[in-house]
Amino acid sequence: MTQSTYTRETFDQVMVPNYAPQAIIPVKGEGSRVWDQEGREYIDFAGGIAVNALGHCHPELVSALKEQADKLWHLSNVYTNEPALKLASQLTEATFAERVFFANSGAEANEAAFKLARRHAFTHYGAQKHEIIAFHQAFHGRTLFTVSVGGQQKYREGFEPAPGGITHLPFNDLAALEAAISDNTCAVVMEPIQGEGGIITGDPEFIKGARALCDKYNALLVFDEVQTGVGRIGELYAYMDTGVTPDILTTAKALGGGFPVGAMLTTEAIAASFVVGTHGSTYGGNPLACAVASKVLEIVNDRQLLDGVKAKRERFVAALNAINAEHNVFSEIRGKGLLIGAALNSTWEGKAAKFLAAAREQGTMVLVAGPNVLRMAPSLVIPDEDIDAGMAGLAKAVAEVVAAGPDA
Ligand SMILES: *Cc1c(COP(=O)(O)O)cnc(C)c1O
Repeated sequence: MTQSTYTRETFDQVMVPNYAPQAIIPVKGEGSRVWDQEGREYIDFAGGIAVNALGHCHPELVSALKEQADKLWHLSNVYTNEPALKLASQLTEATFAERVFFANSGAEANEAAFKLARRHAFTHYGAQKHEIIAFHQAFHGRTLFTVSVGGQQKYREGFEPAPGGITHLPFNDLAALEAAISDNTCAVVMEPIQGEGGIITGDPEFIKGARALCDKYNALLVFDEVQTGVGRIGELYAYMDTGVTPDILTTAKALGGGFPVGAMLTTEAIAASFVVGTHGSTYGGNPLACAVASKVLEIVNDRQLLDGVKAKRERFVAALNAINAEHNVFSEIRGKGLLIGAALNSTWEGKAAKFLAAAREQGTMVLVAGPNVLRMAPSLVIPDEDIDAGMAGLAKAVAEVVAAGPDA
């Protein structure tokens, strides 16, 4: 393989240092396999952080993109376009929603959701009803409003003053929510399963209770399904597994299968508060993004594929349990479907990044969710032999880390 002009060192020379990428540079992907500049092969359990729901370069997504690339790339929202209308029709047919707003990322979809919740309350009840209730450890994106609604202080630090009127409560604590919610609450915002916060599943009773409290106080229930959506948990959206319907739902990440797109879904009545001119995005509803997302949704919204997600989870969990039986590193396997968290036990607390780096050296790409949890969010159609090969790599990595000891 020829030497590239660009190396990991180039990153430090030309990029803002807000990321710390791994030492290798991937250059090609196919399905759940990735190759780096040196031609080394990796099994991808990371899925681009729950994005590559159909793996890398899925042939049907590649042709959807190429087909649209030959037709029309961009118009702006001065015009509507067929791919956007098709995708919005698919989303409204497949979910509770009746109206869709397109954005380019999860943060932007949430920004739209929080603004709509405020605007809806302002329109119907007045400016005093603006308070947003969210939860500790929640992650909603990196814009100033979304880090402010998010429940991790470290992402806000140094960026204050933050937008006001936001309260954070312990997740899964219904009594705390009952005590805090009031007539001034415009929205309760949650991830049905907290992703970045450590793969913490919302208790069914908590989610049902939150729905009832929102109804009582005329507050909107907003589900951030940026990570849990589009088949990730074995249903099209996680709310479908809770018996609770939100008023607003945001989706991004897997929606584009690797092409940037986000969407906010809601009802006709709530959408009505976003009258002409209240919100917008130049790229939102871009034909290329919508053509790809439309194909992703068509493929993923299929009972057989969704049941496959549940079956593949069993294979992951069995392999993780086998690793744990030998090495005793995990306290718990968390999540649903192919959103998998392996929480480290107290001996290995804070060492998740060490396991991630060791796994990568053994040819398996995994993620972390905070310092104590190894996270996997692979392709929803990852072949069983790739699960086995990736788990063999992870097992070797765990053996190596354990042999070196927790203080290495
Ligand atoms: C990743 C994520 C976001 C932010 O999405 P971006 O596309 O990075 O802006 C928001 N909410 C949740 C739950 C996420 O996992």
